[in-house]
Amino acid sequence: MRIQRLLLVLILVLFLFGCATPAETPPADDAAPETPSTAIPAATDAPTETAAPTETPTEIPTATPTLVPTPVGADPNLCKLPGDFNVYLYESDITLGFPVKPIRLVSTGTVRVAVLFVDFEDAAATVSPEDVFNMISPGAEEFFLATSYGQMQMELVPLLEWLRMPGSKDDYFMHSSVSHRDYIRQAAALADPDFDFSDIDDIVVMNDPATSPFSYGPAFAADLSEGGIEVDGMTINNGATSGTDLTYWGSTWLNHEMGHNMGLVDLYLYGSSNALRWVGEWSVMGLIDGKGHEHFAWERWQLNWVIDAQVACFPEGGTTTLTAVEVPGGVKLIVVPVGGTRAVVIESRRALGYDSAIPEGGVLVYTVDTSIASGQGGLQVQTSGVSADYLDAPLAAGESLRISGVTITVLESGETTDTVQVEFGP
Ligand SMILES: [Zn+2]
Repeated sequence: MRIQRLLLVLILVLFLFGCATPAETPPADDAAPETPSTAIPAATDAPTETAAPTETPTEIPTATPTLVPTPVGADPNLCKLPGDFNVYLYESDITLGFPVKPIRLVSTGTVRVAVLFVDFEDAAATVSPEDVFNMISPGAEEFFLATSYGQMQMELVPLLEWLRMPGSKDDYFMHSSVSHRDYIRQAAALADPDFDFSDIDDIVVMNDPATSPFSYGPAFAADLSEGGIEVDGMTINNGATSGTDLTYWGSTWLNHEMGHNMGLVDLYLYGSSNALRWVGEWSVMGLIDGKGHEHFAWERWQLNWVIDAQVACFPEGGTTTLTAVEVPGGVKLIVVPVGGTRAVVIESRRALGYDSAIPEGGVLVYTVDTSIASGQGGLQVQTSGVSADYLDAPLAAGESLRISGVTITVLESGETTDTVQVEFGP
């Protein structure tokens, strides 16, 4: 039933957006400064909640008021804040800005992901590869199909056999992105005789979570200076490796790590007991199994899942009607640039799809600052609420919020729409 709904959405989106082809991978940013070398593995996805990751998205209305909106506001390019690749200390070549680097994984069309299964002489697997594969599939594919509005079709291609790594489990402590890369290289070399990598975009290496030597499963996002995984004449620059945390994150673990592969940053706060500090339970890049873990509209714009015609760029204010991010079509975000690398961003959320557990929908306001490093608060949800998970942040009709000299007022709300006014001044 869910597959049927997703296919329906896919067909609808392909039909309506057929002539508005999502932009190809942006051109290379040759002028970007060199990324600092990483001495620390990619992501440290500190678990903050251990709720079961199972989820049953609610029915999403497919009849939306304005599927291809008439552009409103200024040229959306004025609102594409440039990325700053000097500031990302823990992961390479990822950004909260524009454009996403071409070395990152393509985010539209068919994306083919090799899934390999490895164990160790002193940490042998206790379950079948199928058992581990079922922990991520089909949940991960369905999540991307829905949150991309049918524009990203991820195909997981498993090699369903345990590949025995030549070293012991302690040889693979991933203390740097280079040793992380080498671990994936070894796994790919073991798989190579039985697996064709020639049309593969990304490599995921999994363990039995019960015997995995790794406590968490980071993304591998190569930068040009370190090199990627060379196999079958290809260089594959993106991947992820699983750890024991797969047990409680479930399939959405892969959606988070592949978010990094596609260029997205971590939105939770690193190195603190207060991981929810900046975005609470919003976005899979904030809290993997948060109650509102559909991507922010800003992230979807970065990934070309939201196109320029769906962005209201309001450098001088304005009024428009937003369609909730969980629903295909319509204007998806208002962006108000407020100087340099900063913007105020406004979107609409509803308790639908993968956000079905949020207590109440409404208008969500946040700031984006592309000069702030991954995991340090580049995206900050704005709220006058009191809850630490920020689930009380959405504004209802008649409510307003003021931030950075901008006043945001919700004029009217419908089932899946909010009409929002943006004004400058006192
Ligand atoms: Zn992460």
